[in-house]
Amino acid sequence: MSRVPARIRIETVIGCRAITGSGTVSSLVEPLLHFAVPFASLRAVGIDMRKAALASLIALAPDLDVFFHVHRSESHSIIILAAIVIPLLFLTRNRKEARAIVLLGTFGLITHLVLDLFQNPTPLL
Ligand SMILES: [Zn+2]
Repeated sequence: MSRVPARIRIETVIGCRAITGSGTVSSLVEPLLHFAVPFASLRAVGIDMRKAALASLIALAPDLDVFFHVHRSESHSIIILAAIVIPLLFLTRNRKEARAIVLLGTFGLITHLVLDLFQNPTPLL
């Protein structure tokens, strides 16, 4: 009988798993959490469903690095986040609706980074 770490066994039993670049297995619960937390937060303060859903989808973006066989890489950096958000805020300074989407998406990204800080080492700089 092979010795499989308990975490891998549990996630295999659940049937929802993703293999990350480090070779570890992590549950798909994590992306659901990265979606649900900003969505619930934004809905709680009265943001409409479509905008909250869009911001929550944007919150999933940092974990797209999994497709490049790395996880929690530079895509989780506050500096990279600022390098993307600041120009977007400048470009949307006269477009109220677009600027609101940028700010809501930024909120989603920040919740992603904060949630990742509670789980594993995340390179924020
Ligand atoms: Zn992440």
